[in-house]
Amino acid sequence: AEQLLINSEKLSVAGQLAAGIAHEIRNPITAIKGFIQLIKSGVSDKKLYYEIMSSEIERIEMILNELLILAKPQMVHSDREDIRNILAQVTTLLESQAILNNVEIITECEPDLSPILCDQNQLKQVCINYIKNAIEAMPLGGVLNIQVKMLNDNRLLLRFIDHGCGIPEDIVTKLGQPFYTTKEKGTGLGFMVSKKIIENHNGTVSVFSKENEGTAVEVCLPTVS
Ligand code: ADP
Ligand code: MG
Repeated sequence: AEQLLINSEKLSVAGQLAAGIAHEIRNPITAIKGFIQLIKSGVSDKKLYYEIMSSEIERIEMILNELLILAKPQMVHSDREDIRNILAQVTTLLESQAILNNVEIITECEPDLSPILCDQNQLKQVCINYIKNAIEAMPLGGVLNIQVKMLNDNRLLLRFIDHGCGIPEDIVTKLGQPFYTTKEKGTGLGFMVSKKIIENHNGTVSVFSKENEGTAVEVCLPTVS
């Protein structure tokens, strides 16, 4: 009976995801079809229509790229990595986006950090997701603190603390549900994908947030000696 229950739970999650995907991808496709019709009918200003069509196609690509990460069951490569290297690469990658949004990223790492066993690309994806969310939560700019320290049980604690819009209490539980987004150009998949990757690495993630004050995302990961 227990197995049956697990299976039916899985089915409903899969069904929920399928419905979400169908909905999210149907919208841009309907728009593209409409614009093709308009162009066929011989409108004069095609340039704008082509631009909207390509941005809608990009949106479909973005959704599919994030979903493909979910399709990967386990770590593809598992190597000993220093979290500082991963953070340095990711913050460099996002530097221009941070500067454009007046966000200063301050990284503080304890000196003695054990390495973690991880798929570097997947873990970078996680950090990118949380840093982007933090930048997007501070439309007027501000400071994003990234802190790394060792816990007593040899796990690593990685914190992303922003001073942005925060998340209302009743919404925090919705994080990780597919396609929940408050952004015009959001996919609502970043949180779900990141959580899945962290769980694949035997880690955990918790979110602490206060509306209009900010958000802290805490990731715990096992280390190797
Ligand atoms: P997306 O960024 O595409 O919207 P996510 O899964 O990354 O999707 O995030 C889902 C939603 O959670 C966001 O739309 C936003 O409302 C909220 N959120 C996530 N991170 C933060 C944060 N640091 N501060 C405020 N809200 C956040
Ligand atoms: Mg996001």
